[in-house]
Amino acid sequence: MSTTEPPPVGATPSTRPSLSEPPSASALPSATAAPPPPASPSAFALSREQREWSARLRALGSERLRPHAESGDPGRVNRPLLRELGELGLLGHAVPGARSEERVSALDLCLLREALAYSCPQAETALALQGLGAGPVADVGTPEQRARWLPEVAAGRAVAAFALSEPGAGSDAAALALRAEPEPESGAGPGGGGGGGGEHAARRWRLSGRKTWISNAPEADFYTVFARTGEGPGSRGVSAFLVPADRPGLTGEPLDMLAPHALGTLTFDAVPVTGADLLGAPGQGFSVAMRTLNLFRPSVGAFAVGMAQAALDASLQHAAERPAFGGVLRDLQSVSHQLAEMATRTEAARLLVYAAAGAYDASTGTGADVARRAAMAKLMATETAQYVVDTAVQIHGAAALQRGHLLEHLYREVRAPRIYEGASEVQRSLIAKELYRTRPPRTGRPHTKESPT
Ligand SMILES: Cc1cc2nc3c(=O)[nH]c(=O)nc-3n(C[C@H](O)[C@H](O)[C@H](O)COP(=O)(O)OP(=O)(O)OC[C@H]3O[C@@H](n4cnc5c(N)ncnc54)[C@H](O)[C@@H]3O)c2cc1C
Repeated sequence: MSTTEPPPVGATPSTRPSLSEPPSASALPSATAAPPPPASPSAFALSREQREWSARLRALGSERLRPHAESGDPGRVNRPLLRELGELGLLGHAVPGARSEERVSALDLCLLREALAYSCPQAETALALQGLGAGPVADVGTPEQRARWLPEVAAGRAVAAFALSEPGAGSDAAALALRAEPEPESGAGPGGGGGGGGEHAARRWRLSGRKTWISNAPEADFYTVFARTGEGPGSRGVSAFLVPADRPGLTGEPLDMLAPHALGTLTFDAVPVTGADLLGAPGQGFSVAMRTLNLFRPSVGAFAVGMAQAALDASLQHAAERPAFGGVLRDLQSVSHQLAEMATRTEAARLLVYAAAGAYDASTGTGADVARRAAMAKLMATETAQYVVDTAVQIHGAAALQRGHLLEHLYREVRAPRIYEGASEVQRSLIAKELYRTRPPRTGRPHTKESPT
């Protein structure tokens, strides 16, 4: 790829992070900056192409996407914004199977989410939700399901949603209660094997129950719905269904959130589904959900890193301009140390995110290492972004709290990622579980206190 003639922005940068390419101090140039700065060899860094791609994405976020974001209705699905994301070819990076590649590159997805989070968080969120909702379709959908929905989702013409959480099952998602009751005449009892359609095509169920906190609900065009079919206890009795929004008995209500986010509840009143709507085999739904989350978790971290970088850059500028005590704010040592801490933590989070995405891309997308790294990246990045945005508010003073200020927006926006797709505490439990699994306790003599003599 030539560095003088940039590829279309939707095109994937062809290289992976390299150990020989120069890193930049801030890793990604700003939307308006020229080429990425050179730096010393030997440190881990993105390739030049990747950094240039990120810079173009940031610029697109502010020039092409922000106008759509700002003219949308806060808290509602923004279809013109989605169509623009589709026309720019960006949704294809979040929707597996929509481009020629079968798999999404987790690292490209992270670069994309980080860049858009920096310049247009609404576009970032809209893009991520398309990927999350369509992930299971791409993963285990039948050829008919994939052909019907994936091109539409990637073009931004169809809106997808991922419906796992329920009023009684959030962090403990395996406790979900939405029932898929077999219709007597279908002869459908608990059973396994096969995917959607095929041997299960003649089976029929009725979905009854509630989902809540579902992004894009109730405006999505289809929902990936996780329901209890009862093949086994807990997670082993969950199946995934692709439910088009126009199915009879499916209704929903929007919810008003701290940061405007298209999100709502869904009520299923005996919604009919058949074997042709299954996503994967009966009883396999929970692992389908977890595989999708493994791909998206590091990229939630990338979203957080993008917001942290935006807060840091705003703080650097403000601290350089704000008169204080005969100089400017940044002359105060405590402020300069805050800025240094914000930059260091943001860079550390970024590297963890890229490493987790790299591990995903180098694997089959499953496995303990992928899950552990994804959890670490999401945990570190979302907690870091909260710290950085809060510190940025402190550096800005009252101005940051005025409605419409960038930091007022980020302060509200940064809170939710510490809760969704696995709260921070859940990530810690997941990391600890993997640590214990690889280091089982020693058998034999229990640990005894040694005598000092
Ligand atoms: C903006 C937003 C968008 C969302 N989008 C979607 C979506 O598209 N689809 C979807 O299915 N869901 C979505 N959710 C729901 C989200 O996944 C849940 O909020 C999340 O799983 C946590 O569940 P809960 O809110 O019920 O909290 P609870 O499960 O009740 O947990 C509350 C708190 O208890 C603590 N806790 C919980 N479990 C543990 C544990 N094991 N160890 C220690 N402490 C623990 C944590 O502090 C946690 O924050 C979204 C949520 C938000 C805020």
